[in-house]
Amino acid sequence: MIKLHNGTVPVTHRAFTYVCNGCEKDISSRTDQEVITIVHTFGYGSPKDLERHELHLCEECYDGKLLQLLKIQPNIREVLA
Ligand SMILES: [Zn+2]
Repeated sequence: MIKLHNGTVPVTHRAFTYVCNGCEKDISSRTDQEVITIVHTFGYGSPKDLERHELHLCEECYDGKLLQLLKIQPNIREVLA
């Protein structure tokens, strides 16, 4: 679910507000809140034939829900600017 900010925010500074799929909290890409986005398009002939799935998670749901489901944690590396 994506809502675009409206109002006086300049186009160049406009940001998206997302609703966390885990807890329904508004999370904004303009604040200090992290938005974790997962997007996948299923291939032709799969049971989800060419469906594009997209979800957004707040950092709390990423840590407390998604990572708890995994037997192998994601690869983590520091990204230098
Ligand atoms: Zn959440």
